[in-house]
Amino acid sequence: MQKAGELYRGKAKTVFVTDDPNKLILEFRDDTSAFDGEKIEQLNRKGEVNNKFNHFIMQQLESAGIKTQVEALLNDNESLVKKLDMIPVECVLRNFAAGSLCKRLGIEEGFALSPPTFEFFLKNDSLHDPMINESHCVSFGWATIEQIAKMKTLTFEVNKVLAPLFEKGGMLLVDFKLEFGTDSQGNIVLGDEFTPDGCRLWDKETKKKLDKDRFRQGLGSVVESYIEVAGRIGLTL
Ligand code: C5P
Repeated sequence: MQKAGELYRGKAKTVFVTDDPNKLILEFRDDTSAFDGEKIEQLNRKGEVNNKFNHFIMQQLESAGIKTQVEALLNDNESLVKKLDMIPVECVLRNFAAGSLCKRLGIEEGFALSPPTFEFFLKNDSLHDPMINESHCVSFGWATIEQIAKMKTLTFEVNKVLAPLFEKGGMLLVDFKLEFGTDSQGNIVLGDEFTPDGCRLWDKETKKKLDKDRFRQGLGSVVESYIEVAGRIGLTL
């Protein structure tokens, strides 16, 4: 597999084309950003930790029958993935209230949501990723009704697999964000990443934050916490 040119440079990952038109390489960089790129720092080993964490989680999901983009871990910072046509919406599932939900609705952080809530956001940094609804997705052509239904079902399935995995490691999966795309046959496939950059994880007993909120809120020990999370779910980094 030959790495060719850079296709896209995001805030924390770079996507490269390869000599196979159906495969891409994702490079996880040490760059860490928050608040739509307003706060950016380089955190030593974060790229490696997230690359290996993502690969581990995607393997767990594949074992549970959920199709993901990931094909192989190539080296410390890079993974080989299937090329997808990405759907420009973010799917957020929340088991407990935190972050923007608390701000928007005045809910106390940690309120248990039963059943979990699901929200769509538009991927658009300049608009600060606004919350959107299903009707917007269809009317603006971002996703079809069938794609919306599938993304929602898959997001709840991911929660069913991962919430117990983190629970076994003494953690609460508070919320997470997923992105999907379509493969060459039109199947909806989980893309992007699942790492502590895109989810909230709290220690079950102490409620200590072990995710990117440590970076957002300047709590320190960001990568160390990601490594601790990995260790608690059986991945030594
Ligand atoms: O900010 P908010 O509370 O809406 O975030 C919900 C979840 O989605 C959090 O786990 C957050 O890390 C993740 N998220 C993300 N990328 C975004 C927005 C939210 O990974 N652009």
